[in-house]
Amino acid sequence: MSHPHQQLPPLVGGHGTIQDAFDWVDAADRVLIGAGAGLSAAAGYDYGDTERFKELFPALHRAGFHARYELVGYPLPPRHQWGFWAVHVNDIRLGDQPDSVYQDLRNLVGDRDHFVMSSNVDALFTRNGFDAARVYTPQGDYALYQCLTPCTRQVWDARGILRHALDDYDPRTGATSEKAVPVCPNCGGAVTLNVFAGSWYINDHFQPQLHALNDWLHNAAHEGGNTVVIEIGAGFNTPGVIRWPIERITTHLHESRLIRVNTNHPGVPPAIAPRAASITSNAMDFVRRTSAWG
Ligand SMILES: [Zn+2]
Repeated sequence: MSHPHQQLPPLVGGHGTIQDAFDWVDAADRVLIGAGAGLSAAAGYDYGDTERFKELFPALHRAGFHARYELVGYPLPPRHQWGFWAVHVNDIRLGDQPDSVYQDLRNLVGDRDHFVMSSNVDALFTRNGFDAARVYTPQGDYALYQCLTPCTRQVWDARGILRHALDDYDPRTGATSEKAVPVCPNCGGAVTLNVFAGSWYINDHFQPQLHALNDWLHNAAHEGGNTVVIEIGAGFNTPGVIRWPIERITTHLHESRLIRVNTNHPGVPPAIAPRAASITSNAMDFVRRTSAWG
C-alpha cells in the first residue's frame, strides 16, 4: 500500500521564514493549535522510546516488544492488557507534574482568542492551563473507559479501575490480577479505555468541544483579524485527524497563516505555501524559541 500523501500533489516548503512565523504569532488576534503525537513526544511522552519501555515493561520486553506504539491496538490477554494500561496510563496521563513544553505553549497563546485540536489522549493541554472547553480531542482520553459492546453511550472515569489494576500489577509477569480486570458497570461485559481504536469507540462526550470549535472557526472567518494556525508534530500516522483538517481550515480562512512545525514532514500543499511557514524542528525547540522571542 502506498503512503497516503503520495496520492496527493507534492508538498512544498512554505514561503515564510522562522522569523516570519515569530512575527505572525506576535501579530495574531486568534491562534488555532493543531497538535499531533510529535508534541507529546517532545514533552517526553514518546511512544517510540525503547529505553523507557524496557524499564517500565520488562515482561513485554522479554516477550519481544520494544516500544509502546507496538501495543496500540495489539490484542493482549485481559490480565496483561490491564497490566499494561495501568502502568502506561499512570505514566502518561495521571501524573500531576506540569510540563514545560505545554506551559510554554500556553504562555505563547497568552490572552489571544484560541482553540486547540489534538490527536493526543494524554490531556496534556488541560493539565497545563488550557481551558477544557477550548480543547477538542477527537481520539479520546485515557482517563475514561467505556463498554466494548457498547451497551450504552455512557463513559466513566477510569482512575479507580486503573489504580486497582496498578495495585495488583506484577512486573515479573506484566499482568494484573483476575479481579482487577474491570467489567462494564451496565452489562457486565468487557470494557476498554475510551480511546479510538475501532468502531466501538464512543465520542459523544466530545461533541460540545467540536461544536465550540466550529463556532470559533465561523467567527474567525467572519469577524476579521489575524488568525494564525500553529500545527505541531502531526505527521502521517493519522493525517485525517489533525494534519489534513488543519490544511482545509487554512485554505478556508483566506487571510490566515499556517506555521507547520515538524521534524520530518514540514511541507504544505502548494496552494497555501505563500501563507505558510514550514519549520523543520522539534516541537520543544520551536516553542522555546518562540516564547523566548515573544
Ligand atoms: Zn456494557
